[in-house]
Amino acid sequence: MPEGTVHDVVIIGSGPAAWTAAVYAARANLSPVVYEGEPVGTEIPGGQLMLTTDIENFPGFPEGVTGPELMDRMKAQAVRYETKVMSELVTSVDMSQYPFVVTPSYSEPVRALTVIVATGAKAKWIGLPNEMKLAQHGGGVSACAVCDGALMFYRNKLLAVVGGGDTAMEEALYLTKYASEVVIIHRRDKFRASKVMADRVLGHKKVRVIWNSEVTDVHGADEITGIELTDTVTGEKSSLDVGGLFIAIGHEPNTKFLNGQLDLTSHGYIKVDPWRTSTSVGGVFAAGDVIDDYYRQAITSSGTGCMAALEAERWLAHHGIGESPILETAEGPVEASLDQMEEPPTDRRSLPRPRGGAGVAG
Ligand code: NAP
Repeated sequence: MPEGTVHDVVIIGSGPAAWTAAVYAARANLSPVVYEGEPVGTEIPGGQLMLTTDIENFPGFPEGVTGPELMDRMKAQAVRYETKVMSELVTSVDMSQYPFVVTPSYSEPVRALTVIVATGAKAKWIGLPNEMKLAQHGGGVSACAVCDGALMFYRNKLLAVVGGGDTAMEEALYLTKYASEVVIIHRRDKFRASKVMADRVLGHKKVRVIWNSEVTDVHGADEITGIELTDTVTGEKSSLDVGGLFIAIGHEPNTKFLNGQLDLTSHGYIKVDPWRTSTSVGGVFAAGDVIDDYYRQAITSSGTGCMAALEAERWLAHHGIGESPILETAEGPVEASLDQMEEPPTDRRSLPRPRGGAGVAG
């Protein structure tokens, strides 16, 4: 068990959920500590919005705002109050001890009375051997057009984007600024993307779509020269010369560091109680894209970040730490309908545990 201060709230993550939770926790005098992560490949502190250009649907910004600016502003708001920011990853959280033990990459482990997991999700890859090799060596394969698309390497070339969701649409539109032509390769004959985004893509003179096709090989030793396509209807194979390949096929929640200590949904997202952010371990809350495979918006992430901080505050007050002005008036949990419940609430692995022993400090 590490020595020293026990923090009321440790927040892991640095997207909208994490910073919103920090703002709320800090304003509740809980002196939150945020582990914002560190750059690893295309993952950078700030979450997925750091890889987004204009955000036009975050309320309060009628002219739009860039993802990085929105994250900078949220972080600044959290820091303006009593938020301590640590620029490193959390490698593990020991939930078998209480207070919980949070172990970061470089600094000493710390103890926490409550933990808010807001670690988001990361881009998925197709899984082809040469895809990964070229992606790791800057050989013309990327999962982030906004990070890499402006590089000289990709300028005035035919670029391929894989996927049929909003991310693929956004990446394709972004790449039209630099490419000679953008080809979207989609495995079905219909996009999953929202109509407005799909229409924008289909109406763009620099974008072409190859329907019913999958990328089954990536050609090129050090730099990409082309891709092999397989028709998903006929099985026929063909080749396409491309100067870059952008994979935009969805995301995977970042939960590995939790080492199976929290219950997950069948898609790997952290399971929370209906209309709550409480997890299968009392005192641990989760918010943002790591719990959400449905909405996945900055505003909904912020909303669940707010919920997590309020729930942590109430949980602490309930266990004799601090005061929660809303605790007494809060109604009990709304009962879930049968189809909302994936398992009965009695299956919760652990109910809230009592406050830790002596030496607990705010
Ligand atoms: P998504 O909606 O899950 O779409 C993933 C796409 O990749 C689907 O078209 C899927 O094909 C395809 N795909 C998945 N695995 C594949 C594989 N192994 N090989 C080939 N294709 C594969 O993911 P997303 O586009 O990242 O969007 C995630 C969420 O964020 C959505 O809710 C979206 O609306 C939101 N988003 C919003 C904005 C915005 O508002 N500006 C921007 C980006 C994302 P199928 O269609 O056949 O399943």
